[in-house]
Amino acid sequence: MKRAVVTGATRGIGFAAAKLLSERGYIVTGTYASNEEDARRAKAQLPGVQFVRADVSREEEVRSLFSAVGRLDVLVLNAGIALYAQVQDTAGEAFCRVMDVNAGGVFLCAKHAVKGMLAQGGAIVTVSSVWGETGGSCESAYSASKGAVIAFTKALAKELAPSGITVNCVAPGVIDTAMNGHLSGEERRTLEEEIPLGRFGTAEEVADAILFLAEHRYITGQVLGVNGGLHI
Ligand code: NAP
Repeated sequence: MKRAVVTGATRGIGFAAAKLLSERGYIVTGTYASNEEDARRAKAQLPGVQFVRADVSREEEVRSLFSAVGRLDVLVLNAGIALYAQVQDTAGEAFCRVMDVNAGGVFLCAKHAVKGMLAQGGAIVTVSSVWGETGGSCESAYSASKGAVIAFTKALAKELAPSGITVNCVAPGVIDTAMNGHLSGEERRTLEEEIPLGRFGTAEEVADAILFLAEHRYITGQVLGVNGGLHI
């Protein structure tokens, strides 16, 4: 049976990806950083998925996660945090935390997972954002971190292709998850009007794109937008 790891799998896009991979027969390990209540709920909903607490920004936790998993076929690097603030109000520590989790976490997980993929090949799918492609106003730290994910994906695709490992990226637009739970009804309607398909995407729609990239054997180094036409 094929093995998959999905980071940030206790809710939202990561949860949908873990669920879909598990339904498709993968043995799935899902991670989270700190929210035990969400982890309990996810475990109850997906009893076939193993959930492990491991902060992707902490190398020791990442190292022990992947040494426990061992051989691996699919790695979904989804864990991420948002930061919405004007640049003059963004503390240096907050900028560094966003970079550490969103970009550093992708690097650390890829670094420690690759060993388990080299023998048989595999697929890595990173999760960036439309703002990593276009830049989001009042989201400079987040956009920078997600731009880094795209550059990292392309570089790693070149490095790992000779080992039979594909590396691709999904760049979601505005998706209906807890990350957007702070939006007021009016803010939501304004955003929906900006999206050509007229609505937020669902976590399941992003998971479909992740599975497609995880299983395609001749696509590598690509960024697949799942954004309802927000960025074309
Ligand atoms: P979400 O609902 O906030 O879920 C985030 C998940 O990541 C949770 O399981 C969370 O667990 C985990 N996580 C956060 N920090 C972590 C860390 N340091 N180490 C390990 N796990 C960590 O987010 P989402 O909306 O599903 O977004 C998932 C990904 O898609 C993110 O990378 C996000 O930037 C990207 N994205 C989202 C949207 C959107 O509109 N929602 C758009 C574009 C891109 P804990 O709660 O335990 O920390």
